[in-house]
Amino acid sequence: MNNILNWPDYKVLQVSELEHDYQVRAEVAEAPTHCPHCNHSEIVGFGRRDEVIMDTPVNGKRTGIMLNRRRYRCQSCRKTFMEPVPHKDDKRRMTHRLIKYIERESLQRTFLGVAEDVGVHEKTVRNIFNDYCERLENLGLSNSTPGTRRLLRLAAAAKRNK
Ligand SMILES: [Zn+2]
Repeated sequence: MNNILNWPDYKVLQVSELEHDYQVRAEVAEAPTHCPHCNHSEIVGFGRRDEVIMDTPVNGKRTGIMLNRRRYRCQSCRKTFMEPVPHKDDKRRMTHRLIKYIERESLQRTFLGVAEDVGVHEKTVRNIFNDYCERLENLGLSNSTPGTRRLLRLAAAAKRNK
C-alpha cells in the first residue's frame, strides 16, 4: 500500500506537512452502489461536504484527514444520503485506529498529553477512556482472562492518577 494512510479504500489527493501536523486531503475511493434506505441502485451525486476526521499521528505529527465527502440522492425513494466512510467511528469524528491509540496511550499518560499529541480536546480523550474502562469492566465479569485482569488493573490505576 502506498499512501500515507495505508488504506486502499481512501484516495489520497494531497498531503501537507506543517510543523506539528499532517493535513491529508482525501476521498473515499469506492462510490456506493445502492441506496441505504430502499436498496435501489439508481443513485445520483447530490453535492459534497468537507469533513475533518482525526487519525493516529504519523511520524510524531497530528494527522487530520480532510475528507471531501459525497452526497447522493436516490432516484427511487428520493432520499439523500452521505457516502459511508470506511474506518471511521460511528460516534466520533475520528478513525477506529485513533480510538484504539487513545485507549492505549491513556493508560500510561495524562489526558492532556494524549489530547495534544493527537489533536483532539482533552474532554474527548477522557470520554473515550471512560468508555474503554466501562467496556473492560463489562468484559471483566464475563471473560476474566489474565490479560483482561491486567488491563483492568492498569485502567483502575490510570483513573486514580487523573
Ligand atoms: Zn432509495
